[in-house]
Amino acid sequence: MSTPCTATSSQTGAPCGRYAIAGGTVCPSHGGSAPQVKESAHRRLLDAVDPAIDKLRGLLDSADERIVLQAVRLVLDRAGVGPEERRLTDFTLDDINAAIAELEVQLGYKPPTDYQPNGGTPNA
Ligand SMILES: [Zn+2]
Repeated sequence: MSTPCTATSSQTGAPCGRYAIAGGTVCPSHGGSAPQVKESAHRRLLDAVDPAIDKLRGLLDSADERIVLQAVRLVLDRAGVGPEERRLTDFTLDDINAAIAELEVQLGYKPPTDYQPNGGTPNA
């Protein structure tokens, strides 16, 4: 996400108009290329990783199936099991059916496999 540089022109006082470096508040021309500024910006980005993961994890429980699907795709992609990283031949049909069944449960299409409609009383 790009944010505008917070610096203003020393001649006109107008806003810079360029984008700040990632994680920073100023563009490269207004100090964003200084090593300590780059380092601080990088640290701010790293600090945002855990909250971002927590937020993404929360989206998996969204009531909106489209949001859940997007979150599932992001998680799978970042976990290295995205469409580019896996080949269909790496999985058995049982693996694929299990993944589909799990997704159907997550999306609320089906109850969990351990769900017992009689309230959990075995053999009732
Ligand atoms: Zn600037």
